[in-house]
Amino acid sequence: MVSPLSFDALSVDPECLCSIICYYQIVARSSGTVTEVTTFMDCYFPDCERLWINVSLATFDPAVEKPYGLLEDHVLGTRGGRIAAILPRSRADLSGFAGEVIDGQGGLLTPGLIDCHTHLVYGGDRTAEFEKRLQGAGYEEISRAGGGILSTVRATRALDEEELVRQARPRLEALAREGVTTVEIKSGYGLTAEDELKMLRAARKLAGELPVRVRTTLLAAHVVPPEYRARPDDYVDLICGELIPRVAAEGLADAVDVFCESIAFTVNQAERLLRAARESGLGVKVHAEQLSNSGAALLAARCGAWSADHLEFLDEAGAQALRSAGTAAVLLPGPFYFLRGTRKPPVDLLRRLGVPMALATDLNPGTSPLASLRLMMNMGCTLFGLTPEEALAGVTRNAALALGVGDRLGTLAPGRQADLLLWDVAQPAQLVCEVGWGAPRQRVVAGEDTHV
Ligand SMILES: [Zn+2]
Repeated sequence: MVSPLSFDALSVDPECLCSIICYYQIVARSSGTVTEVTTFMDCYFPDCERLWINVSLATFDPAVEKPYGLLEDHVLGTRGGRIAAILPRSRADLSGFAGEVIDGQGGLLTPGLIDCHTHLVYGGDRTAEFEKRLQGAGYEEISRAGGGILSTVRATRALDEEELVRQARPRLEALAREGVTTVEIKSGYGLTAEDELKMLRAARKLAGELPVRVRTTLLAAHVVPPEYRARPDDYVDLICGELIPRVAAEGLADAVDVFCESIAFTVNQAERLLRAARESGLGVKVHAEQLSNSGAALLAARCGAWSADHLEFLDEAGAQALRSAGTAAVLLPGPFYFLRGTRKPPVDLLRRLGVPMALATDLNPGTSPLASLRLMMNMGCTLFGLTPEEALAGVTRNAALALGVGDRLGTLAPGRQADLLLWDVAQPAQLVCEVGWGAPRQRVVAGEDTHV
């Protein structure tokens, strides 16, 4: 009997998602000849601070080739706010582990939910408009009566930053309570340099008040402000020349968005804005093909946009371009439902071409005053024809892509941020089927428990 003599090369077990190299072989040699190979699988958690055991994981990691990226009865370990290790319970050696062990009691761990398209900072409300529309009033009539987006602009301009934060907070709390750990918030109801900056500061301030990661987007090009009606190019100049450099320098926005449509900004104007954003180091996004096919999806792809949003009128060429550019398609069932829309985004086309589909609330006072991402998942299936797996991927992995943070958030994998939700459900689809109850039992952001 020979005893192990030499230590052979370390190799990573392909089945193991552990970031700690844990699979090695001791090769016994006798006079240079291999006589015995002993394989050790010693998965352990030397540096982890917290471990979740007795849980299944819906990882949404493309490397896990199962629906939902599901790993049953696995252990997940975190360290320094990140996921450090994931491995099967049967192979996890917990002996000597001195950190905190959390018994998931058979629950499901998912990534924190991401709402990648909201306008949740605003003043006033549009209830009167809702009532008018129920009585049959159309867009024109509502606009003439002083409603529509410009009524929100007036109300938002009238509030200071503190009051905007105070009014927005309950909306963000509602999202956070049902599991949203990252939210995007757009400006776009100020439409002057100072009012747009005020909105972005309010959005940044909310990040300090609630345990939610906030990504902010400058949407000064939401609509042409009344002051610039006759000279929209001057307003585009103002955004490119003054606003974009300022928000970039002050770190107030992560991205720039534009409403590219005949009633808002042309493709040429939008392209100028997006190029200026890229030159300032900001990400770009486009409200695209919502009311007509204007070529906005092609523009989004050309500019390397993180996302193109709405897309009811997207055609095959536009979808191909999104696919090639790696741009996420953000679908918004909230306004479709609320306005009783009839034109749906081409989900079959997006699915066939493999364009990553995200889902978001579009939370805003006029067309989607609906602060529930769980409801959007449900409506994504019932109204748009997504599968429950697509709906959940749309508020995790693909929503992260839409915010330019796909390398950090939206999946459960070693090295990713430890934003986790522990749910008392038997299967992932339950989170899509059921709405209005069943909040996560545990809500973790950057490895720490959080409460809303
Ligand atoms: Zn929007």
